[in-house]
Amino acid sequence: MHYISTRDSSLRASLSEAIARGIAPDGGLYVPGEFPHFNTRQFDGFNEMPEIGERLLAPFFEGDALAGELGAICREAFNFPAPLVTLDQAPQPASVLELFHGPTCAFKDFGARFLAATMERIRRNEPKKLTILVATSGDTGGAVAAAFHGKPWVDVVVLYPKGLVSERQAQQLACWGGNVRTFSVNGTFDECQRMVKEAFLDPALKESHQLSSANSINVGRLLPQMVYYAKSSLELWRQLGRRPNYIIPTGNLGNAMACVWARHVGLPIGEIVLATNANQTITDFLRSGEWQPRASVATLASAMDVGNPSNMERLRSLHPEFDELQGQLGASSVDDIEIRGTLRRDSHELNRIWCPHTATAAKVYRRMLSRGARGHWVIVSTAHPAKFNDIVEPQTGQEVPVPPALAKLLSLPRQEQELEPSLSALRTQLQHT
Ligand SMILES: *Cc1c(COP(=O)(O)O)cnc(C)c1O
Repeated sequence: MHYISTRDSSLRASLSEAIARGIAPDGGLYVPGEFPHFNTRQFDGFNEMPEIGERLLAPFFEGDALAGELGAICREAFNFPAPLVTLDQAPQPASVLELFHGPTCAFKDFGARFLAATMERIRRNEPKKLTILVATSGDTGGAVAAAFHGKPWVDVVVLYPKGLVSERQAQQLACWGGNVRTFSVNGTFDECQRMVKEAFLDPALKESHQLSSANSINVGRLLPQMVYYAKSSLELWRQLGRRPNYIIPTGNLGNAMACVWARHVGLPIGEIVLATNANQTITDFLRSGEWQPRASVATLASAMDVGNPSNMERLRSLHPEFDELQGQLGASSVDDIEIRGTLRRDSHELNRIWCPHTATAAKVYRRMLSRGARGHWVIVSTAHPAKFNDIVEPQTGQEVPVPPALAKLLSLPRQEQELEPSLSALRTQLQHT
């Protein structure tokens, strides 16, 4: 298996190269050069994430230096569950796919842990320490810090916009110490991202540091996300004899892209519907065919505040014809008023406390039902509501119990420094302290 750039199929890379580089030399994203095909029987007798992951991802690792270690990588990365929970009080049978049982209580843990397990093996014989720069709007930074914390071959530098993440997210970003340094930047997420991009182009930093990124365009984060779609769809297929449909809270389209790939390689997945917040770049595109990226607007589901979703490039490379692409996906947008209303209503009627991101999917589920949708639906739950207690509790009127993983991180001392939003400020910190 080789990987190619979305912009130029002659730019080929091995899996290890694609993971180490993150982005292709022409600025495109790496995608598999061809896709394997599975039938569901090939997973007979496979029930757990590590074994399903190993079978599913084997063709994606074929011929790579890491191929022999795929089993070990899967056992390391998928060491917490992704349960399907029946929504018994729903108006029509539905399930919730809970992706928040990892160390930082969001689905980003799957990608971050898998990336750490692969990078550790790729870097094993390199003499120079790696420095991973992450700009985060909340969940990615915590997941990456948790996955790489305490590893002797790497330093992690997290940049987040001061005051623009939830209090508990901030704590999860700043509680690490050791090889993780956290900076609260006096600026926006876009400025944090710009600082990271500029750092990669800075000759002085290139000289002094071996820089890498861990952002969601890395193919090493997308591949593992296919695994929970494989496991959950096979489970429902075996139980119900039909393909479940998925509703996925979407920002940068990384999580949903993995679901599209899982269906593309033959897993029993029916419809895929994207739930977005008030950032409507994707919903407008699927309606009109015109791709118009724009600045993001701030919403209650802040991890989905993306105006220019980078993974759309991967979707468009899989389905270059718009008519065909439009037939592959549905999309529906949910504003803040509806997020609040859904948090409130579902806490009473369904006995479920959502995070604000999951609430967008739950709202879209109700919308689909009122339009007569049939079949078995899976609401993808991307984070634990306790991370967003400041938004959730005023709506539901009840305290959200804190899961043990989160409680542990909340009890640690906070270790962070403020930083001005400029490359020179970042360079000074990296080189002189
Ligand atoms: C990152 C994130 C999303 C959006 O996922 P994408 O892959 O960017 O579409 C949704 N919910 C939560 C809680 C997240 O952290």
